Amino acid sequence: MNAPEAPKPPPSPHVMNTYGRLPFALSHGQGCRVWDTEGREYLDALGGIAVNTLGHAHPKLVPALTDQIGKLIHCSNYYQAPMQEQLAARLCELSGLTNAFFCSTGLEANEAALKIARKFGHDKGIDRPEIIVYEKAFHGRSIATLSATGNPKVQAGFGPLVEGFVRVPLNDVAAIEEVAQTRPNVVAVFLEVIQGEGGINPATVPYLQALRRLCDEHDWLLMLDEVQCGIGRTGKWFAHQWAGIHPDVMPLAKGLGSGVPVGAVVCGPRAAGVLGPGNHGTTFGGNPLAMRAGIETLAVMEQDRLLENAATVGERLRAGLARELADLSGPNGVTEIRGQGLMIGIELARPCGELLGRAAEAGLLLSVTADRVIRLVPPLILSAAEADRVVAILCPLIRRFLAEPPKPAA
Ligand SMILES: *Cc1c(COP(=O)(O)O)cnc(C)c1O
Repeated sequence: MNAPEAPKPPPSPHVMNTYGRLPFALSHGQGCRVWDTEGREYLDALGGIAVNTLGHAHPKLVPALTDQIGKLIHCSNYYQAPMQEQLAARLCELSGLTNAFFCSTGLEANEAALKIARKFGHDKGIDRPEIIVYEKAFHGRSIATLSATGNPKVQAGFGPLVEGFVRVPLNDVAAIEEVAQTRPNVVAVFLEVIQGEGGINPATVPYLQALRRLCDEHDWLLMLDEVQCGIGRTGKWFAHQWAGIHPDVMPLAKGLGSGVPVGAVVCGPRAAGVLGPGNHGTTFGGNPLAMRAGIETLAVMEQDRLLENAATVGERLRAGLARELADLSGPNGVTEIRGQGLMIGIELARPCGELLGRAAEAGLLLSVTADRVIRLVPPLILSAAEADRVVAILCPLIRRFLAEPPKPAA
Protein backbone atom coordinates (compact mmCIF):
# COMPACT_ATOMS: atom_id res chain seq x y z
CA MET A 1 0.00 0.00 0.00
CA ASN A 2 1.24 3.45 -0.84
CA ALA A 3 1.92 5.83 2.01
CA PRO A 4 -0.60 8.63 2.01
CA GLU A 5 0.75 11.67 0.19
CA ALA A 6 1.90 14.45 2.47
CA PRO A 7 -0.40 17.45 2.16
CA LYS A 8 1.05 20.09 -0.14
CA PRO A 9 2.44 23.03 1.82
CA PRO A 10 0.47 26.18 1.18
CA PRO A 11 2.14 28.65 -1.21
CA SER A 12 2.29 31.28 1.54
CA PRO A 13 3.28 30.53 5.12
CA HIS A 14 0.55 32.68 6.69
CA VAL A 15 -1.96 33.91 4.11
CA MET A 16 -4.77 31.41 3.59
CA ASN A 17 -4.63 29.59 0.33
CA THR A 18 -7.83 30.90 -1.30
CA TYR A 19 -6.51 32.30 -4.58
CA GLY A 20 -4.58 30.95 -7.53
CA ARG A 21 -1.95 33.67 -7.83
CA LEU A 22 0.47 34.47 -10.63
CA PRO A 23 4.14 34.33 -9.57
CA PHE A 24 4.84 38.09 -9.31
CA ALA A 25 3.75 41.03 -7.16
CA LEU A 26 2.72 44.45 -8.42
CA SER A 27 4.34 47.45 -6.82
CA HIS A 28 3.00 50.60 -8.50
CA GLY A 29 1.11 51.93 -11.48
CA GLN A 30 0.51 54.97 -13.62
CA GLY A 31 -2.57 55.26 -15.79
CA CYS A 32 -3.13 51.87 -17.45
CA ARG A 33 0.42 50.73 -16.82
CA VAL A 34 1.64 48.81 -13.78
CA TRP A 35 5.03 47.53 -12.73
CA ASP A 36 5.97 44.50 -10.68
CA THR A 37 8.58 44.37 -7.94
CA GLU A 38 11.18 43.20 -10.51
CA GLY A 39 10.56 46.29 -12.63
CA ARG A 40 8.63 44.53 -15.43
CA GLU A 41 5.92 46.64 -17.03
CA TYR A 42 2.36 45.47 -17.81
CA LEU A 43 -0.55 46.97 -19.69
CA ASP A 44 -3.56 46.65 -17.38
CA ALA A 45 -6.63 45.31 -19.19
CA LEU A 46 -8.03 43.91 -15.92
CA GLY A 47 -8.22 47.08 -13.81
CA GLY A 48 -8.23 45.05 -10.59
CA ILE A 49 -11.36 43.26 -11.97
CA ALA A 50 -13.32 46.31 -13.17
CA VAL A 51 -12.35 48.30 -10.08
CA ASN A 52 -9.68 50.82 -11.10
CA THR A 53 -12.02 53.10 -13.05
CA LEU A 54 -9.47 55.93 -13.20
CA GLY A 55 -6.47 53.63 -13.63
CA HIS A 56 -3.55 53.93 -11.24
CA ALA A 57 -2.24 57.03 -9.43
CA HIS A 58 -4.72 59.32 -11.18
CA PRO A 59 -3.51 62.95 -10.90
CA LYS A 60 -6.92 64.16 -9.69
CA LEU A 61 -7.77 61.25 -7.39
CA VAL A 62 -4.45 61.10 -5.52
CA PRO A 63 -4.53 64.67 -4.12
CA ALA A 64 -8.23 64.36 -3.23
CA LEU A 65 -7.69 61.13 -1.30
CA THR A 66 -4.52 62.46 0.30
CA ASP A 67 -6.44 65.52 1.48
CA GLN A 68 -9.22 63.32 2.88
CA ILE A 69 -6.85 60.98 4.70
CA GLY A 70 -5.31 64.03 6.38
CA LYS A 71 -8.75 65.16 7.59
CA LEU A 72 -10.93 62.17 8.47
CA ILE A 73 -10.84 58.57 7.27
CA HIS A 74 -13.60 57.09 9.36
CA CYS A 75 -16.02 58.25 12.04
CA SER A 76 -18.92 55.68 12.19
CA ASN A 77 -22.55 56.26 11.27
CA TYR A 78 -23.42 57.85 14.65
CA TYR A 79 -23.24 61.33 13.10
CA GLN A 80 -24.60 63.31 10.19
CA ALA A 81 -22.94 62.25 6.96
CA PRO A 82 -22.81 65.14 4.47
CA MET A 83 -20.50 63.28 2.10
CA GLN A 84 -22.92 60.33 2.00
CA GLU A 85 -25.64 62.86 1.11
CA GLN A 86 -23.45 64.26 -1.65
CA LEU A 87 -22.58 60.90 -3.23
CA ALA A 88 -26.15 59.60 -2.83
CA ALA A 89 -27.53 62.71 -4.51
CA ARG A 90 -25.15 62.27 -7.42
CA LEU A 91 -25.95 58.56 -7.82
CA CYS A 92 -29.67 59.38 -7.75
CA GLU A 93 -29.22 62.16 -10.29
CA LEU A 94 -27.36 59.80 -12.63
CA SER A 95 -29.75 56.88 -12.21
CA GLY A 96 -33.14 58.58 -11.75
CA LEU A 97 -33.53 56.67 -8.47
CA THR A 98 -34.16 58.25 -5.08
CA ASN A 99 -32.06 56.89 -2.19
CA ALA A 100 -28.79 55.08 -1.51
CA PHE A 101 -27.39 52.95 1.30
CA PHE A 102 -23.59 52.70 1.50
CA CYS A 103 -21.46 49.67 2.27
CA SER A 104 -18.01 48.55 1.22
CA THR A 105 -18.21 45.60 -1.20
CA GLY A 106 -20.32 44.03 -3.89
CA LEU A 107 -21.61 41.16 -1.82
CA GLU A 108 -22.65 43.58 0.90
CA ALA A 109 -24.59 45.66 -1.60
CA ASN A 110 -26.29 42.46 -2.77
CA GLU A 111 -27.03 41.36 0.79
CA ALA A 112 -28.77 44.69 1.34
CA ALA A 113 -30.75 44.15 -1.88
CA LEU A 114 -31.82 40.66 -0.75
CA LYS A 115 -32.88 41.99 2.65
CA ILE A 116 -34.89 44.75 0.95
CA ALA A 117 -36.62 42.18 -1.26
CA ARG A 118 -37.51 39.92 1.67
CA LYS A 119 -38.79 42.76 3.80
CA PHE A 120 -40.74 44.16 0.85
CA GLY A 121 -42.46 40.75 0.78
CA HIS A 122 -43.02 40.56 4.54
CA ASP A 123 -44.44 44.10 4.53
CA LYS A 124 -47.15 42.96 2.14
CA GLY A 125 -47.91 39.77 4.05
CA ILE A 126 -45.71 37.23 2.25
CA ASP A 127 -44.01 35.24 5.02
CA ARG A 128 -41.75 33.11 2.83
CA PRO A 129 -40.74 35.42 0.00
CA GLU A 130 -38.97 34.03 -3.06
CA ILE A 131 -36.54 35.80 -5.37
CA ILE A 132 -35.97 34.90 -9.01
CA VAL A 133 -32.24 34.41 -9.79
CA TYR A 134 -30.31 33.16 -12.82
CA GLU A 135 -28.21 30.40 -14.21
CA LYS A 136 -24.53 31.47 -14.45
CA ALA A 137 -25.17 34.46 -12.16
CA PHE A 138 -22.55 35.67 -9.72
CA HIS A 139 -23.54 37.80 -6.75
CA GLY A 140 -20.75 37.23 -4.21
CA ARG A 141 -19.40 34.75 -1.70
CA SER A 142 -21.35 35.30 1.50
CA ILE A 143 -23.75 32.47 2.32
CA ALA A 144 -26.79 34.34 0.96
CA THR A 145 -25.09 35.74 -2.14
CA LEU A 146 -23.44 32.43 -3.03
CA SER A 147 -26.87 30.85 -2.72
CA ALA A 148 -28.16 33.39 -5.26
CA THR A 149 -25.15 32.68 -7.48
CA GLY A 150 -25.73 30.25 -10.34
CA ASN A 151 -22.40 28.43 -10.24
CA PRO A 152 -22.13 25.05 -8.48
CA LYS A 153 -18.35 25.56 -8.02
CA VAL A 154 -18.97 28.65 -5.88
CA GLN A 155 -21.54 26.77 -3.78
CA ALA A 156 -19.77 23.43 -3.36
CA GLY A 157 -18.92 22.70 0.26
CA PHE A 158 -20.98 25.50 1.78
CA GLY A 159 -24.43 24.02 2.10
CA PRO A 160 -27.06 24.20 3.35
CA LEU A 161 -27.74 27.03 0.95
CA VAL A 162 -30.10 29.86 1.81
CA GLU A 163 -33.59 29.05 0.59
CA GLY A 164 -36.05 31.28 -1.17
CA PHE A 165 -34.46 31.45 -4.61
CA VAL A 166 -36.04 30.30 -7.86
CA ARG A 167 -33.56 29.89 -10.71
CA VAL A 168 -34.26 30.57 -14.39
CA PRO A 169 -32.17 30.81 -17.59
CA LEU A 170 -31.22 34.29 -18.85
CA ASN A 171 -33.15 35.97 -21.67
CA ASP A 172 -36.06 33.52 -21.51
CA VAL A 173 -39.28 35.47 -20.96
CA ALA A 174 -41.41 32.32 -21.03
CA ALA A 175 -39.48 30.92 -18.03
CA ILE A 176 -40.34 34.02 -16.00
CA GLU A 177 -43.97 33.91 -17.06
CA GLU A 178 -44.13 30.31 -15.89
CA VAL A 179 -42.70 31.27 -12.49
CA ALA A 180 -45.29 34.05 -12.28
CA GLN A 181 -48.04 31.46 -12.85
CA THR A 182 -46.79 28.89 -10.36
CA ARG A 183 -45.06 30.75 -7.48
CA PRO A 184 -47.27 33.24 -5.64
CA ASN A 185 -44.54 34.17 -3.14
CA VAL A 186 -42.15 35.74 -5.64
CA VAL A 187 -41.24 39.29 -4.59
CA ALA A 188 -38.31 40.22 -6.81
CA VAL A 189 -36.20 39.45 -9.88
CA PHE A 190 -32.45 39.73 -9.29
CA LEU A 191 -29.93 39.73 -12.13
CA GLU A 192 -26.76 41.23 -13.55
CA VAL A 193 -27.42 43.34 -16.63
CA ILE A 194 -24.27 41.78 -18.08
CA GLN A 195 -23.16 38.66 -16.24
CA GLY A 196 -19.50 39.17 -15.36
CA GLU A 197 -18.02 36.09 -13.69
CA GLY A 198 -20.45 33.94 -15.65
CA GLY A 199 -18.68 34.81 -18.91
CA ILE A 200 -19.80 38.31 -20.06
CA ASN A 201 -23.38 37.31 -20.90
CA PRO A 202 -25.63 40.32 -21.57
CA ALA A 203 -29.33 40.42 -20.78
CA THR A 204 -30.92 41.63 -24.01
CA VAL A 205 -32.74 44.95 -24.23
CA PRO A 206 -36.14 43.34 -25.00
CA TYR A 207 -35.63 40.94 -22.10
CA LEU A 208 -34.89 43.78 -19.65
CA GLN A 209 -37.93 45.66 -20.92
CA ALA A 210 -40.09 42.55 -20.50
CA LEU A 211 -38.80 42.13 -16.93
CA ARG A 212 -39.69 45.73 -16.12
CA ARG A 213 -43.21 45.14 -17.42
CA LEU A 214 -43.61 41.83 -15.54
CA CYS A 215 -42.30 43.35 -12.31
CA ASP A 216 -44.88 46.14 -12.57
CA GLU A 217 -47.64 43.67 -13.39
CA HIS A 218 -46.88 41.36 -10.46
CA ASP A 219 -45.67 43.95 -7.93
CA TRP A 220 -42.15 42.49 -7.87
CA LEU A 221 -38.96 44.49 -7.36
CA LEU A 222 -36.59 44.63 -10.32
CA MET A 223 -33.13 44.33 -8.75
CA LEU A 224 -30.21 44.86 -11.14
CA ASP A 225 -26.77 43.86 -9.87
CA GLU A 226 -24.55 46.48 -11.55
CA VAL A 227 -21.58 45.74 -9.30
CA GLN A 228 -19.41 44.94 -12.34
CA CYS A 229 -21.19 46.44 -15.36
CA GLY A 230 -22.19 49.77 -13.75
CA ILE A 231 -20.25 53.03 -13.24
CA GLY A 232 -19.69 53.90 -16.87
CA ARG A 233 -18.16 50.65 -18.00
CA THR A 234 -20.58 50.03 -20.87
CA GLY A 235 -20.61 53.64 -22.09
CA LYS A 236 -23.63 54.67 -20.01
CA TRP A 237 -23.53 55.35 -16.28
CA PHE A 238 -25.43 52.12 -15.69
CA ALA A 239 -25.77 49.25 -18.13
CA HIS A 240 -29.58 49.03 -17.80
CA GLN A 241 -29.84 52.55 -19.24
CA TRP A 242 -29.26 51.02 -22.69
CA ALA A 243 -32.74 49.48 -22.26
CA GLY A 244 -34.37 52.76 -21.20
CA ILE A 245 -35.73 51.26 -17.97
CA HIS A 246 -35.30 51.95 -14.26
CA PRO A 247 -34.66 49.24 -11.67
CA ASP A 248 -36.18 49.40 -8.20
CA VAL A 249 -32.94 48.29 -6.56
CA MET A 250 -29.41 48.60 -7.93
CA PRO A 251 -26.36 47.26 -6.07
CA LEU A 252 -23.06 48.90 -7.03
CA ALA A 253 -19.46 48.46 -5.92
CA LYS A 254 -16.34 47.58 -7.94
CA GLY A 255 -15.73 50.72 -10.03
CA LEU A 256 -17.41 53.20 -7.70
CA GLY A 257 -14.36 54.10 -5.62
CA SER A 258 -11.70 53.57 -8.29
CA GLY A 259 -9.91 51.15 -5.94
CA VAL A 260 -11.08 52.34 -2.53
CA PRO A 261 -13.71 49.85 -1.27
CA VAL A 262 -17.10 51.52 -1.81
CA GLY A 263 -20.41 49.74 -2.23
CA ALA A 264 -23.91 51.12 -2.54
CA VAL A 265 -27.42 49.94 -3.07
CA VAL A 266 -29.44 52.60 -4.88
CA CYS A 267 -33.24 52.35 -4.77
CA GLY A 268 -36.25 53.85 -6.48
CA PRO A 269 -39.50 54.87 -4.77
CA ARG A 270 -40.95 51.37 -4.40
CA ALA A 271 -37.93 50.09 -2.47
CA ALA A 272 -36.29 53.11 -0.86
CA GLY A 273 -38.51 53.12 2.23
CA VAL A 274 -38.46 49.40 2.95
CA LEU A 275 -35.54 49.47 5.39
CA GLY A 276 -35.92 51.69 8.46
CA PRO A 277 -33.85 52.52 11.54
CA GLY A 278 -32.33 49.36 13.02
CA ASN A 279 -33.03 47.18 9.98
CA HIS A 280 -29.58 47.32 8.46
CA GLY A 281 -26.13 48.78 8.96
CA THR A 282 -22.41 48.31 8.54
CA THR A 283 -19.43 49.77 10.37
CA PHE A 284 -17.30 50.85 7.42
CA GLY A 285 -20.17 51.77 5.10
CA GLY A 286 -20.12 55.34 3.81
CA ASN A 287 -17.01 56.44 5.68
CA PRO A 288 -15.49 59.76 4.59
CA LEU A 289 -12.56 58.21 2.71
CA ALA A 290 -14.88 55.92 0.75
CA MET A 291 -17.30 58.75 0.00
CA ARG A 292 -14.54 61.06 -1.17
CA ALA A 293 -13.31 58.32 -3.49
CA GLY A 294 -16.81 57.86 -4.92
CA ILE A 295 -17.50 61.57 -5.29
CA GLU A 296 -14.14 62.19 -6.96
CA THR A 297 -14.39 59.15 -9.25
CA LEU A 298 -17.77 60.26 -10.61
CA ALA A 299 -16.56 63.86 -10.96
CA VAL A 300 -13.47 62.88 -12.95
CA MET A 301 -15.53 60.52 -15.10
CA GLU A 302 -17.72 63.46 -16.06
CA GLN A 303 -14.92 66.03 -16.49
CA ASP A 304 -12.82 63.69 -18.60
CA ARG A 305 -15.79 62.30 -20.57
CA LEU A 306 -14.99 58.72 -19.64
CA LEU A 307 -18.39 57.32 -20.68
CA GLU A 308 -17.68 58.43 -24.24
CA ASN A 309 -14.19 57.02 -23.91
CA ALA A 310 -15.50 53.65 -22.69
CA ALA A 311 -17.90 53.52 -25.63
CA THR A 312 -15.48 54.56 -28.39
CA VAL A 313 -12.32 52.85 -27.13
CA GLY A 314 -14.39 49.77 -26.26
CA GLU A 315 -15.76 49.69 -29.79
CA ARG A 316 -12.27 50.10 -31.21
CA LEU A 317 -10.96 47.28 -29.01
CA ARG A 318 -13.77 44.98 -30.03
CA ALA A 319 -13.41 45.81 -33.70
CA GLY A 320 -9.65 45.19 -33.49
CA LEU A 321 -10.16 41.82 -31.83
CA ALA A 322 -12.83 40.85 -34.35
CA ARG A 323 -10.58 41.84 -37.24
CA GLU A 324 -7.44 40.09 -35.99
CA LEU A 325 -9.31 36.94 -34.94
CA ALA A 326 -11.71 36.81 -37.90
CA ASP A 327 -10.11 33.75 -39.50
CA LEU A 328 -10.25 31.86 -36.19
CA SER A 329 -13.91 32.49 -35.56
CA GLY A 330 -16.04 29.35 -35.47
CA PRO A 331 -17.06 26.46 -33.23
CA ASN A 332 -13.46 25.19 -32.85
CA GLY A 333 -11.75 28.53 -32.37
CA VAL A 334 -13.09 31.89 -31.20
CA THR A 335 -16.74 31.10 -30.64
CA GLU A 336 -17.90 34.62 -29.77
CA ILE A 337 -16.73 38.13 -28.89
CA ARG A 338 -19.35 39.91 -26.79
CA GLY A 339 -20.00 42.64 -24.26
CA GLN A 340 -20.37 46.37 -24.36
CA GLY A 341 -18.00 49.31 -23.98
CA LEU A 342 -15.00 48.29 -21.90
CA MET A 343 -16.51 45.02 -20.70
CA ILE A 344 -15.52 42.49 -23.31
CA GLY A 345 -15.50 38.71 -23.35
CA ILE A 346 -13.71 36.58 -25.95
CA GLU A 347 -15.06 33.06 -25.76
CA LEU A 348 -12.87 30.23 -27.01
CA ALA A 349 -13.90 26.71 -27.88
CA ARG A 350 -12.00 25.22 -24.97
CA PRO A 351 -10.79 26.08 -21.45
CA CYS A 352 -8.01 28.66 -21.65
CA GLY A 353 -7.00 29.46 -18.07
CA GLU A 354 -3.31 29.26 -18.96
CA LEU A 355 -3.71 32.39 -21.11
CA LEU A 356 -3.74 34.39 -17.87
CA GLY A 357 -0.09 33.57 -17.18
CA ARG A 358 0.96 33.71 -20.82
CA ALA A 359 -0.58 37.17 -21.26
CA ALA A 360 1.20 38.38 -18.14
CA GLU A 361 4.49 37.05 -19.49
CA ALA A 362 3.77 39.03 -22.64
CA GLY A 363 3.09 42.15 -20.55
CA LEU A 364 -0.71 42.16 -20.47
CA LEU A 365 -3.01 41.76 -17.45
CA LEU A 366 -6.43 40.23 -18.05
CA SER A 367 -8.57 37.45 -16.64
CA VAL A 368 -10.25 34.27 -17.77
CA THR A 369 -13.71 33.55 -16.45
CA ALA A 370 -16.23 30.74 -16.90
CA ASP A 371 -13.23 28.56 -17.97
CA ARG A 372 -13.03 29.71 -21.56
CA VAL A 373 -13.90 33.39 -21.69
CA ILE A 374 -11.05 35.91 -21.81
CA ARG A 375 -12.33 38.94 -19.92
CA LEU A 376 -11.16 42.50 -20.58
CA VAL A 377 -12.36 45.09 -18.05
CA PRO A 378 -9.62 47.77 -18.20
CA PRO A 379 -9.66 51.22 -16.59
CA LEU A 380 -12.10 53.57 -18.35
CA ILE A 381 -9.17 55.88 -19.19
CA LEU A 382 -7.78 53.32 -21.67
CA SER A 383 -6.55 55.20 -24.76
CA ALA A 384 -7.05 54.18 -28.39
CA ALA A 385 -3.31 53.40 -28.65
CA GLU A 386 -3.50 51.22 -25.54
CA ALA A 387 -6.54 49.40 -26.95
CA ASP A 388 -4.54 48.70 -30.11
CA ARG A 389 -1.72 47.38 -27.96
CA VAL A 390 -4.08 45.01 -26.13
CA VAL A 391 -5.11 43.65 -29.54
CA ALA A 392 -1.48 43.40 -30.69
CA ILE A 393 -0.39 41.44 -27.62
CA LEU A 394 -3.46 39.29 -27.10
CA CYS A 395 -4.39 38.09 -30.58
CA PRO A 396 -1.10 36.27 -31.34
CA LEU A 397 -1.39 34.52 -27.94
CA ILE A 398 -4.90 33.33 -28.77
CA ARG A 399 -3.74 32.25 -32.22
CA ARG A 400 -0.85 30.21 -30.80
CA PHE A 401 -3.06 28.70 -28.08
CA LEU A 402 -5.72 27.55 -30.54
CA ALA A 403 -3.06 26.02 -32.78
CA GLU A 404 -1.85 23.76 -29.95
CA PRO A 405 -3.40 20.33 -29.61
CA PRO A 406 -6.01 20.38 -26.82
CA LYS A 407 -4.67 19.06 -23.54
CA PRO A 408 -6.14 15.71 -22.55
CA ALA A 409 -8.64 16.10 -19.71
CA ALA A 410 -6.90 15.62 -16.36
C1 LIG B 1 -17.65 41.04 -8.09
C2 LIG B 1 -19.11 40.93 -8.08
C3 LIG B 1 -19.83 40.79 -6.88
C4 LIG B 1 -19.14 40.61 -5.56
O1 LIG B 1 -18.43 41.74 -5.19
P1 LIG B 1 -17.38 41.63 -3.97
O2 LIG B 1 -16.93 43.05 -3.79
O3 LIG B 1 -16.30 40.71 -4.41
O4 LIG B 1 -18.12 41.11 -2.81
C5 LIG B 1 -21.20 40.75 -6.95
N1 LIG B 1 -21.86 40.87 -8.11
C6 LIG B 1 -21.20 41.02 -9.27
C7 LIG B 1 -21.98 41.17 -10.54
C8 LIG B 1 -19.81 41.04 -9.29
O5 LIG B 1 -19.17 41.14 -10.46
